[in-house]
Order: sequence, then structure tokens, then C-alpha cells
Amino acid sequence: MQHIQRLVSRSAEVGGGVSVNRLLPNRSQRMIGAWCFLDHAGPAILQPGHGMRVGPHPHTGLQTFTRMIEGQLLHRDSLGYVQVIRPNQVNLMTAGHGITHSEESLPDEQRLHAAQLWIALPKTVSNMAPAFDHYPQVPVWQQDGCRYSLLAGRWHGHQAPTRVYSDLLGMELLATEDHRVSLPLRADFEYGILTLEGAVHLGEDSFGPNELAYLGRDWTQLDLALKAGSRALLLGGLPFDGEIVMWWNFVGHSRAEVMQAQHDWESGHARFGQVNDYVGAPLVAPPLPWKSI
Ligand code: MN
Repeated sequence: MQHIQRLVSRSAEVGGGVSVNRLLPNRSQRMIGAWCFLDHAGPAILQPGHGMRVGPHPHTGLQTFTRMIEGQLLHRDSLGYVQVIRPNQVNLMTAGHGITHSEESLPDEQRLHAAQLWIALPKTVSNMAPAFDHYPQVPVWQQDGCRYSLLAGRWHGHQAPTRVYSDLLGMELLATEDHRVSLPLRADFEYGILTLEGAVHLGEDSFGPNELAYLGRDWTQLDLALKAGSRALLLGGLPFDGEIVMWWNFVGHSRAEVMQAQHDWESGHARFGQVNDYVGAPLVAPPLPWKSI
């Protein structure tokens, strides 16, 4: 078996005092294909009045990809979408040239378990018009004690409905019994697999919650074993073409682009629009880390 890198999460706080486990970007691995950001929230029991609250904030050059596992979140954005996301659903927001959104637990919500990822947009479309899509269902099939949910891309005759702009894969595995499988992979993709619950066994190695096994490229088959109740997220994609600059909630293809986005957010530029009916102030960007381009 080829070398597998074990990436560990760091804790990051999102709004409302909710902390998440951040896997990407990681010191030793920034991206998996176009997947450039990966937060795992929960599983957590929310005390009354202590749900997640992330006030209005901007994005550029990326898609935010939310997979709900337990609980419900309310999304609002500057295009006017107000959408509750429930377990097993996906929200996909395309920031393109600019969008603003807020996310919050519903007032009486008691649970939170979700993965939120960002997908970097290729340079050719990174300035596209913003969009928001809610996917109430994705393809799900049961095979040999495992429930597979295809979140993005194609998988051997299945096609996810999510609108993405590069060749990538997102698939959730939930073992309903002890499960052992040999997954056929694409040699031109790089892959990683994150344990969301339980444990994922790859050969002799075992990966627990919030450990990301980074596989890299040139795999045509992955032998894995999951104990009953274990849940994992398999991510893959063609290695991203080009360099991106990530700062705060912006992705750009140059530092100048990101500095412009931050300047525009701070000056209330119309490209970001505004979120209506969120109770609370928009987020303030931290100072740019660069003095000039
Ligand atoms: Mn966001």
C-alpha cells in the first residue's frame, strides 16, 4: 500500500461560541482537488440559546458546500434565498464575484453535526455571477452493510446533482453493519478520507474522528473497513490547476484580487449585496496580512 498521510484537525471558532474541527487547509496539505476548506462541526448537543450563529459575511471565488448530518441550519443570502437545511441534504452557494450570507441554528435546535467545505472555482469562472442551490436529496444506495451518499461528482453509474465546476468527488459512507470494501479509484485524482464518526481502517492504519487520511494520487483501489456506525467522507479531485490565494472568506487567483475583495467589503460595495432579516451585525474582516501586492 502506498504511503498515507495522517492529517489532524485544529480547533477553530465559528459564531455563537461553537467550535469546529478544521482539516483543510492543513499545514501539510492545502487542498484535495478543488476542495480547499473543510470544517467538521459536532456531533454536538446544543444548550438552549447556544446554537451556531454566523453573521453576514462575504465570499468570493469559491463555492460553500454544506452537508447536514444532524440538526438544522438556516441560511440567508444577499440573493434573497432563505433556506433551512436538514439532515442528508446539501446546500451549495456559488460566491463567484461576490455574495454575502449568514448561517444559524434554528432557535429550538438541539443538535449540530455537519461538514462545511469550500470548493475553489477555476480561474475561468471565478468571477461568475453568484448563485445558491439547495439539494433536498442526493443519490443514496445501500451496498453490503454500507449506505453511500453521492454528494458531488460521479461514481460508477451514479451522478450527483450538485453543480460544480471541476472534476471532483464527494461521497459519504455510513456503515450500517461492519463493512469491508474495495473501492475502485481514479489514478488521476488525489483523494482523502475524513472520519466523521467511529473509525476507518485502511490496511494496518486506523483513523479516528477528525483524522483525515490523505492518499494523494495514483490509487486505483482502496481497501477499507468501517465498524458498524462509522461514518466517513471520501473527497477526491483532479489536482487543482493553478495557485489560489485564500484569506478570511475570500478565494482569489492573485493577492490583488483578494485585497480588492476585502477593500470592497469594508467599503460596502454593491458586489456583496446584503442579507435581510438577520438579527445581528455583519462580520468585520481581520486586517489584511500584506501591506501591498
Ligand atoms: Mn460562509
